[in-house]
Amino acid sequence: MAIIGIDLGTTNSLVSVWAQQGSELIKNPLGKVLTPSVVGLNDDGTVLVGQAAAERLITHPQETVGDFKRLMGTDSPVRLGKRDFRPEELSSLVLRALKGDAENYFGFSVDEAIISVPAYFNDIQRKAVMGAGKLAGLKVERLVNEPTAAALAYGLNELEEDRFLIFDLGGGTFDVSILEKYENIMEVRASAGDNYLGGNDFRDVVVQMIAQRHDIILAEIAPEVYNRLLRLGESVKVALSSAHESSYHILVGGKLCEGRITREDFEQASAGLIRSLRAPLERAIADSLIAPEEIENIVLVGGATRMPLIRRLVTRLFGKLPLCHLNPETLVGLGTAVQVGLKSRDHMLEDVVMTDVCPYTLGTDVLDHMSANENDMVMSPIIERNAVVPISRSRIYTTSYDRQDKVRISIFQGENLRPENNILLGALDLDVPKNGAGEEEVEVRFTYDVNGALEVEAQSLSLKKVERKVLRNETTISGEELDRRFDELQSIKLHPRERAESKALLARGERIYAESLGSKREYVHGLLRQFETQISDQRNRNTLQEHEAFSEVLDLMERSVFDPEQF
Ligand code: ADP
Ligand code: MG
Repeated sequence: MAIIGIDLGTTNSLVSVWAQQGSELIKNPLGKVLTPSVVGLNDDGTVLVGQAAAERLITHPQETVGDFKRLMGTDSPVRLGKRDFRPEELSSLVLRALKGDAENYFGFSVDEAIISVPAYFNDIQRKAVMGAGKLAGLKVERLVNEPTAAALAYGLNELEEDRFLIFDLGGGTFDVSILEKYENIMEVRASAGDNYLGGNDFRDVVVQMIAQRHDIILAEIAPEVYNRLLRLGESVKVALSSAHESSYHILVGGKLCEGRITREDFEQASAGLIRSLRAPLERAIADSLIAPEEIENIVLVGGATRMPLIRRLVTRLFGKLPLCHLNPETLVGLGTAVQVGLKSRDHMLEDVVMTDVCPYTLGTDVLDHMSANENDMVMSPIIERNAVVPISRSRIYTTSYDRQDKVRISIFQGENLRPENNILLGALDLDVPKNGAGEEEVEVRFTYDVNGALEVEAQSLSLKKVERKVLRNETTISGEELDRRFDELQSIKLHPRERAESKALLARGERIYAESLGSKREYVHGLLRQFETQISDQRNRNTLQEHEAFSEVLDLMERSVFDPEQF
């Protein structure tokens, strides 16, 4: 039975296998290794995943969603057509599509996966990813941190000894890891990041610029128009990675808004985001105890690192150019397969040892003796950030008032002195014998495994009684709920893969129709009808030619160099 590796990205997802020659990326029905992490309801009730859904964000905004990785670990429902979905259910639909691609590749079924998650995902978010796997019918015994996966893919074939930094800026998250490699041991020295910072924020900078210039009030426009603006912002942003300026035009409420944005304008407007990138970088460097000039290589990961301003920032900070022979979008995906190889103890990887760290501090809250206010609580770290995992640490605490008979151990994650500013992961209650303040001792032990799962044990030293809790937090769904949702999701069918390419092209045509005007629009309409007839003709078994022809003319339409008036 095969195990697959999955990079479940905010923007794009990939599926891979550990094959004889090493990591191999599996293609989707469109022949691409990147599958957009977008889910949509099709008119026939099936679910679309990937490119076709991505196109329909514009034409069917109520029935299509992307970016839901940002919601993983929350209870925020996402409305899709008539039904509310949990973020892990949406992710599970992406996973199911990737699983299908892998099964098509192997010719047999797949039931196990290793999935990558941002290093900075907290316990709740990790549980949500595991839940998504389960909902997709995949056993997920192991998660791997995205920068660690990228490091595995990069480090395997490179230098014997190396100190390197992984700079991963995807669509929605930013992760930095500093690693050291000697012989076959790869060690993560430090990880830091920001779960709410990515390429999308740079897109939003462009959207804001356009809105400001043309007095568009974003909160007041229809979802369809908003999605068109996002798409426009995205394409201007991407264009500015290779061109020095980009023009735009968009119809908002009957008004044509057009203009140009230069790279300089864009970079100036992005200054705040660039500042936010510095904090995790500086923290990772400080925690790694490696000086910036000792870092030999900088590996850029994530599509957003294609922006020149990111490359400049990295060059300035480290005094050297980042490596650019690697594809930033596929490195994590390739690395998840290496992790599969490690798990299956493949002989090719016999000597490779990878150690990872816990990227944030875990602790509990205690009375702050240094505070003037006697009820003030303060964070008491038990496992400090960037400790090598797996790890188990304990601390002894005492009761705070006379005749106290219960101790509540709240479990927090984060770096803030004030517990309320950190993330509350859960709590554990323990009975203690009534005694004077400070006379009863409680030992609290935190054990953190390689997947980022935390087990907490508390013991009253005089009663010798132990309370234990593997964090099953309040916001992720319980086992039974998961089973119920699994059954429900089974009734949802994915759009058939053999029609995926036609569907993606149709969706793209409809999107271009929605974005254009006048005679171009009529022309696209005609093309769409013609293409529909061609592919619905039962005698036409090989639609490859039609696909290619239609796709080429859509390319022309999209580049706007094509003027239908001339026909
Ligand atoms: P994720 O890990 O979030 O799925 P990816 O690594 O696929 O993300 O990166 C997606 C992000 O990269 C998007 O925000 C996208 O706009 C951005 N991106 C891709 N190519 C370019 C480019 N040429 N210039 C600027 N940004 C790009
Ligand atoms: Mg990514």
